[in-house]
Amino acid sequence: MSSKKNQKILISILVVCSLLLLIGCNDVMFSNRSRVLLVSEGEIAQMSAQSYSEIKAADKIITNNSQFAMVKRVGERVAQAANNTLLEAKNTDLLNTFKWEFVLIDSPNVVNAFCMPGGKIAVYTGILPLTKTDDDLAVVMSHEVSHALAQHGNERMSQQLLVGIGSSVLNKVIENNSPEVKDAYNTIYGVGTTFGVMLPYSRLHETEADKIGLILMAKAGYNPQAATGFWERMSKLGQSKPPEFLSTHPSDETRIKDIKAYIPEAMKYYSK
Ligand SMILES: [Zn+2]
Repeated sequence: MSSKKNQKILISILVVCSLLLLIGCNDVMFSNRSRVLLVSEGEIAQMSAQSYSEIKAADKIITNNSQFAMVKRVGERVAQAANNTLLEAKNTDLLNTFKWEFVLIDSPNVVNAFCMPGGKIAVYTGILPLTKTDDDLAVVMSHEVSHALAQHGNERMSQQLLVGIGSSVLNKVIENNSPEVKDAYNTIYGVGTTFGVMLPYSRLHETEADKIGLILMAKAGYNPQAATGFWERMSKLGQSKPPEFLSTHPSDETRIKDIKAYIPEAMKYYSK
């Protein structure tokens, strides 16, 4: 056999092995849904950490008042619940990508909050009038953390990659630091336009984050029943002046009804 042919076979084996390592059916926690993830979560976490540093440098960060203390207190408990959930699922690969950080951004007109992959969380002061208690704030933070925990960002990037390039060049894309992965990240996370503005999640991802969020807040010791009031207040605010949070999290009767219906399940995790 010629060495050229050997080389070709070797390359093919390597490509198949990398594909099998990185692509695989991956189940979403607390759900029976499986999906394909193409990008290394560690690589996304690195890009997120970079964006997060840029956001922190560009915005006014509050670090020394009772509002920030609340964000940190609630965030740390929700993060601990998320870590425990990953440990229980024996998903140490994903767990290791999380380096939790919390900031409160002084922006009274921005009604928003987010958690990027890798656990980089921001709460804008504009959402705090809707979250008077720790339970209320836990509704928001747990929901956002759930998007990261369920790797919705990776799934959206993977969909983007599949649509954009087709599976024939997948072996090129899965390399770390490939331009295609960076492009997909920038598109999903709005980098280059306005920081912190993400493409809206799909309805499916929203429903999943609502459900996982209720369980997560319950595990963190916060009462999931607070979710109904929060989403009703948010929905009311949307009638006068739709805030940023609603542009990515449309709130309607169906959403609130689904949340109410799921609370009894979440209550099983509360005060355990
Ligand atoms: Zn969401």
